[in-house]
Amino acid sequence: MDHFTYRAGVLCAEEVPLSLIAADVGTPVYVYSTATLTRHFKVFQEALSWTDHLICYAVKANSNIAVLKLLGDLGAGMDVVSIGEYARARAAGVPGERIVFSGVGKTREEMRLALEGGIRQFNVESEPELLALSEVATSLNLRAPVALRVNPDVDAKTHEKIATGKSENKFGIPIARAREVYAGAAALSGIEICGIDMHIGSQLTDLDPYRQAYAKMATLTRALRDDGHDIRRLDMGGGLGIPYRRDNNAPPLPIEYGQVIREAVGDLGCEIDIEPGRNIAGNSGVLLSSVIYVKRGGDRDFLILDAAMNDLIRPAMYGAHHDLVPVIEAAPGADRAAYDVVGPVCETGDIFEKGAALPPLGPGQLVAFRSAGAYGAVMASEYNTRPLIPEVLVHGDQFAVIRPRPSLEEILAREALPEWL
Ligand SMILES: *Cc1c(COP(=O)(O)O)cnc(C)c1O
Repeated sequence: MDHFTYRAGVLCAEEVPLSLIAADVGTPVYVYSTATLTRHFKVFQEALSWTDHLICYAVKANSNIAVLKLLGDLGAGMDVVSIGEYARARAAGVPGERIVFSGVGKTREEMRLALEGGIRQFNVESEPELLALSEVATSLNLRAPVALRVNPDVDAKTHEKIATGKSENKFGIPIARAREVYAGAAALSGIEICGIDMHIGSQLTDLDPYRQAYAKMATLTRALRDDGHDIRRLDMGGGLGIPYRRDNNAPPLPIEYGQVIREAVGDLGCEIDIEPGRNIAGNSGVLLSSVIYVKRGGDRDFLILDAAMNDLIRPAMYGAHHDLVPVIEAAPGADRAAYDVVGPVCETGDIFEKGAALPPLGPGQLVAFRSAGAYGAVMASEYNTRPLIPEVLVHGDQFAVIRPRPSLEEILAREALPEWL
């Protein structure tokens, strides 16, 4: 459920007409809904209300500091994958003891800064990383709290570019070697083992891969306890999918996901952490865009928008679909036309959808891509020297720009000419 609905024929974010935001801020622009973000976070809280838990929002899904502060103020922890994301979480007021640090390539500098700043847990993905972390922590007279990310070798049944839990993926320590690596970790002076971590992929629409992975986690927990390790926290990762198509079967609900966790590991007495990103932010945002031209091609019409692949890369990168809707509601039974929806970037791959059925549209009219709140703005670039597009947060009948569109002067001023040129 989200808070983007038509009111008096105009698509609104909560109580604010998107046409008002377009007139004030310009397009293209990302628009997020406070009520939707809040609701999605609370649904996860309810799903884990049977146990001690922390919901560590995956910052990479949408890392705007205002979004992080909103979630942090609701009690969220954060899952970060770089010291940059760590800095964002801290800037949003999230204390270090609620931040977990994931990622396959943490540098020593990142480790040091996170240890000095305060950290809940490092999710360590390899033995060399473990050794480096122990050295850094020892040099600071600290012990780093660690969960090893274990790769359970299960098929998450999602897009190959976002599957992370098969043995051929770069992530985690092979489960067959986990006991040996834990034994090694326990012998390191700078490491304090606190749990186990898994994350098997993103946009999962089936609970079975979770069941398989979490069954392996339960078995591993018992084995590691037998080996004498203090396994007191289980980090179950993120990845629960969202409905990108309104007319399709909806993926499982967080409450059902919470039950899968409970069935698998509920009897172990561990604190449960999860790392949802997309499920909290995805349907909390839209990408609002204007039609620049409608162009008659050889055998089709092109809808040329002011948003492009550099603003929302998921269609070009993963073949992803985002429902596209007109901001002014079409009359019921109105004619539909088929458009290839494209952006202005000079790449054939800059296409959002082929043959989209939309009411007839003309220059200046507004459209919105739904489900664009996660992996949208964070993946944007300035390819073709198109300014990073602004972000707006709506709350009831108010809205605020939470990242302004940079001016061309600001973009050009970031670069420098060498003296000898
Ligand atoms: C990306 C990622 C997540 C979040 O995945 P979603 O599909 O957005 O829920 C969680 N944990 C880790 C380690 C990740 O890399």
